[in-house]
Amino acid sequence: MEYISKVTLDRPRTLAELTSMLIEKPESELIAGGTHIMSRPDYFPKSDFHSYISLDKVQELHRVSHTDKFLELGSMQTIQNLLNTASTTLSPDVYNAISRITSTPLKSKITIGGSLCLADSRTTLCSILAAVKAEADVRFITVKGDKKAKIHSRWMPVYKLYDSNGRYLYSDANTVLTRIRIPSAPNSTFIYDRVGSITNGSDHFVSVTIEFTLGQTSIITNPSFCLSFLKNGFYFVQGFDSFLSALKFPLESEDKKKIALFLSKHLPRECPAITPLQLERALRLTLNATEKVNRLIMDQ
Ligand SMILES: Cc1cc2nc3c(=O)[nH]c(=O)nc-3n(C[C@H](O)[C@H](O)[C@H](O)COP(=O)(O)OP(=O)(O)OC[C@H]3O[C@@H](n4cnc5c(N)ncnc54)[C@H](O)[C@@H]3O)c2cc1C
Repeated sequence: MEYISKVTLDRPRTLAELTSMLIEKPESELIAGGTHIMSRPDYFPKSDFHSYISLDKVQELHRVSHTDKFLELGSMQTIQNLLNTASTTLSPDVYNAISRITSTPLKSKITIGGSLCLADSRTTLCSILAAVKAEADVRFITVKGDKKAKIHSRWMPVYKLYDSNGRYLYSDANTVLTRIRIPSAPNSTFIYDRVGSITNGSDHFVSVTIEFTLGQTSIITNPSFCLSFLKNGFYFVQGFDSFLSALKFPLESEDKKKIALFLSKHLPRECPAITPLQLERALRLTLNATEKVNRLIMDQ
C-alpha cells in the first residue's frame, strides 16, 4: 500500500498547539479514541487523506470540574471516566443507561467528543446527553486566505449539533468540540429503550430517550424527548416537550392516540429519511415509554 508512508500523525499537547496545527493543516482529520476511525474499512489511512491529529495528549481536553449545578468534562474523557465521575450528578436511570453502552474495554476507549462528533451516526451517548440537556462547547477555527485565523467558541445544547437527518453539523468545518456540561439532576426520571443494533449499522434502528421530573399533580415537568434513527434521523423537537407537559398522567387511551397522531404527523415531515418500519417502531417505543411513565405515576 504505497500511500501509507505519506500519512502524518501529529500529537499536540495544548489547545493552542492544536489550534495552530489546524490553521496550518486545515484538511486534517481529528482522532480521539479511534474506535470509529480504526474500525471502518478504508478509513485510516485513507488513500486521499494524509494528515491526522491525535487529541490524546491535549491537556485541556482531559479536564474535569464539578459545581453544584453541573459536571464539566473535557471531550477526551471516555465513557468509562464519565461513569466514574458522574455518579452524583446523574440519576441512577441515566447512569445505568450509560453503563449498558457496549463492553467495559470499549467504554474505556470511546470518548465523549468522538461519540458526539461522528459525522453520520447518532449513537446511544448522543441521545442520552441530548435528553439530559447537556451542552457542548465548540471551538470554530476559520482560516482566511492569508492563513490568518478567526477563532471563537460557543456553548450549545447537544441536540443542536445535529440536523434532522442525524448529521453532525460541523464535521466539514474546522471545529473542535472541547468540553461538555451535564446539569446536575440526580432526582430526575429517565427512560431509554431501543430496537435494532448499532454495530450492524441497521437501517431500522430506533431509540427513544425521555427525561422528566415527576410532579405532585399528575403532570411531568421539564420533559425532554429524543428519538434517534442512528443514520437517518434525529428528532428532538421542543414542541413535543410542551405537548408532553400539557398531558395529565396516568394517560388514558385517548391521550395515547393523541401522542401517536402527533408523531405520525410530525415525524415523517421532520425526519424525511426514516423508513416506514422506523416510524412504526418509533410510535411503539414511545407508547411503551408512556406506559412506563403511567406505572411510575401510579406507584408514587
Ligand atoms: C463494537 C462497537 C460497539 C459500539 N457500541 C456502541 C453503543 O452501543 N453505543 C454508543 O454510543 N457507541 C457505541 N460504539 C462507539 C461508536 O460507534 C464510535 O466508535 C465512537 O463513538 C467513536 O468514539 P471515539 O472516541 O473512538 O472517536 P474516533 O473514532 O476517534 O472519532 C470519531 C469521529 O469524531 C471526530 N472527533 C473526535 N473527537 C472530536 C472532537 N473533540 N471535536 C471534533 N471532532 C472530533 C473524529 O474526527 C472522527 O470523525 C461502539 C463502537 C464499537 C467499535
